[in-house]
Amino acid sequence: MPFSTPTLNSKLPQVGTTIFSTMSQLAQEHQAINLSQGFPDFDGPDELLSRVDFYIREGANQYAPMTGAPVLRNALAEKLQRCYDRRVNSDTEITVTSGATEALFAAITAVVRPGDEVIVFDPAYDSYEPAINLNGGKAIHIPLLPPDFRINWDAVAAAITPHTRMLIFNSPHNPTGQVLQPEDIIALQELVKGTSLLLLADEVYEHMVFDGQEHLSFNRYPDLAARSFIVSSFGKTYHITGWKVGYCIAPASLSAEFRKVHQYLTFSTATPLQLALADYLHAHPEADQQLPAFYQHKRDLFNDLLHGSSFIFTPSAGTYFQLMDFAALSNQVDTEFVQWLIREVGVAAIPLSVFYQHPPEKLHWVRFCFAKGEETLLRAATLLNQL
Ligand code: PMP
Ligand code: GLN
Repeated sequence: MPFSTPTLNSKLPQVGTTIFSTMSQLAQEHQAINLSQGFPDFDGPDELLSRVDFYIREGANQYAPMTGAPVLRNALAEKLQRCYDRRVNSDTEITVTSGATEALFAAITAVVRPGDEVIVFDPAYDSYEPAINLNGGKAIHIPLLPPDFRINWDAVAAAITPHTRMLIFNSPHNPTGQVLQPEDIIALQELVKGTSLLLLADEVYEHMVFDGQEHLSFNRYPDLAARSFIVSSFGKTYHITGWKVGYCIAPASLSAEFRKVHQYLTFSTATPLQLALADYLHAHPEADQQLPAFYQHKRDLFNDLLHGSSFIFTPSAGTYFQLMDFAALSNQVDTEFVQWLIREVGVAAIPLSVFYQHPPEKLHWVRFCFAKGEETLLRAATLLNQL
């Protein structure tokens, strides 16, 4: 008798393969230049790579402590003091995770119960809503509209209900490249004052803010930090997205609940990677401060190369992404345009509409990742300029 597999009633019926995997695979199939999925096409610092090798050979190959290697948590506490003047207890307020993705999932799972509402801003990074849904919560989408993609604080106030548990912020913002401004922080402080609302701050691009602006981390504001899970990732800062090492900063009571999830999600994160990162942070505390200039140079190069093209854009304020308006080039919808771009032009990009619950009318923007070597950016721009 043949064995039959029971039919599953999907817990995530709307979810397919992520747009990042889909576009990267298409890029490979068509041998297109991949400016779609966000990752550098260059390696992290040699010294950092060597330390991993060192620790693997030295035998640091067993489980790290559940909360993260103490040396790395201490290095992070120093970084928070240095960058944001925030003092945290490295034992109770910092947890090392397997990428920011794990930290986001653990934070959402720690607090969201069936029936809870969580406010997200569209275009929203794709991992938030599935995590909310798996916990029985509901994402309440507030759109950020082109061309400036700013938060409408009246809309946020109107969206708060007795069921609202948490709001998720992402600054610098993927995919728009916008960053929160001082007036946004003031509006948020006013909004949450005296409430039991929680905040989840996705700050993985914290060190990619351009043109002299400052990253307004929630770590800087004690009133916001007191109710926040603040998530970041070494993947972005040290060009090592494949290592998947991130962390979450939260007050001790929130971290305690976060850790209850983390310890059964992954338990701990790769030991040699954590020890190598701790060494590198201690030896090169200045490295993160060099990142804005490093990526601003790439942004400017890419944008200068496309200056005479038919794309319309304003320079990205943060992240390693640049949004471009293709309305002058094509009247296709963005999901079709990116397919055409891969096949006919040989460059892969990400369409903007997939990050919206209800995409605004006539949304003709694509996202390019400029975390690439100059030669790659030059080749891509040459192809795009032929349009
Ligand atoms: N949040 C945002 C906004 C991102 O762009 C990314 C990048 N993949 C992540 C979270 C996840 O980071 P990680 O790769 O460390 O899991
Ligand atoms: N965050 C990356 C991006 O925005 C992708 C990460 C992933 O593929 N999961 O492109």
